[in-house]
Amino acid sequence: MRATLRLKLHTDERTANALRDTLEGFTACFNAATDYGWTHDERNSLRLHRATYTGLRETHPSLPSQRVCASRIKAVEALKSVDARKAKGKKVGCPISALCPVRYDTRSYGVRLQDECASLATTQGRVCLTFSLPVYYRRYLTWHTTSADLCFDPHKRRFYLHVVMEKDTPTVSPNGDVVGCDLGVRRIAVTSKPQFFSSSALHRKARRHQHLRSALQRKGTKSAKRHLRRLGRAWYRFTREQNHLIANAILDALPEGAALTVEDLTDIRERCQHRKGQRGLFHRWSFAQLQAFLAYKAQQHGIVFVRLDPRHTSRQCPKCGHTEKANRKRQGVFHCVGCGYEANADFVAACNLRQKGRSLLARLLSESPSCPTTSGSSEPGRR
Ligand SMILES: [Zn+2]
Repeated sequence: MRATLRLKLHTDERTANALRDTLEGFTACFNAATDYGWTHDERNSLRLHRATYTGLRETHPSLPSQRVCASRIKAVEALKSVDARKAKGKKVGCPISALCPVRYDTRSYGVRLQDECASLATTQGRVCLTFSLPVYYRRYLTWHTTSADLCFDPHKRRFYLHVVMEKDTPTVSPNGDVVGCDLGVRRIAVTSKPQFFSSSALHRKARRHQHLRSALQRKGTKSAKRHLRRLGRAWYRFTREQNHLIANAILDALPEGAALTVEDLTDIRERCQHRKGQRGLFHRWSFAQLQAFLAYKAQQHGIVFVRLDPRHTSRQCPKCGHTEKANRKRQGVFHCVGCGYEANADFVAACNLRQKGRSLLARLLSESPSCPTTSGSSEPGRR
């Protein structure tokens, strides 16, 4: 399993200059490589290397040669992801970066979490930097470091090192405990335990946020635009924090070896219909982020994380299995036409997810007695 640590680097004038110079050189190489790949329709890393390496070394003699290669590898990744978007019918152009994070591998950088110091290869030689390790990150002291990205936050005018840590994913023996978790508008999350995470306070906050946003948009002045950007960042931080809190609360309630089943969220926005008043929050709430948090935190907790096809989870009766649209008379209430069972609709969906999870797990366990926690994405500590 993996996790990304975001370390705030302490810099002085000399080291800041070295880092800025390296970032700018790396970005220039990245943009040159994507430009060549785009205009010559070249996606092969080796051929792109042969075509651009010598020229880039001449124009950026102080940038370490391994960083030139890293920028080309990143350029190939960017070009391929643009191709993937194009294949989906999206409008695309040549990828250009204003400030491309510098990728480091274990040979070109070193970090010692315990001693709170890192060393990076820059245009001005090897530079040693210090940082303060947040208490929360102490749990990663036994993990291995892999690659890292050097980033600059233009708003805070600070350099960050995003270090990717790795540890073998422990195999867990499922204890048969399965909990379903339904994500939605009325309640951000409901589990089959049951746990309810109401969204009414979030809706109030979202309305205030929306009100301020539209007022600033109407104003349209330079200062209003600056304020809007600040507001957007604050909202992003707020929703991310809430998602962290919800994910922690759900996982803290589960014992090791339990399984958590959630619905597969692909196309949730197209699939779900909701009332006009609820659209605001719904479109700005990142359920995908909440799921990503649940996935990587579940791994660390030794909990099996399962994504399931959500079909019929809101229409099926958990008591008698009767499935009909009429079971869901109103948004919040489930009333079975077959047996008369009545309950909170989100809770019913969570119970159905638990049921689906149980059958899936039973099938998997009959094939192999222990299963690794599913690979989730690592902590997205960046935008
Ligand atoms: Zn029923």
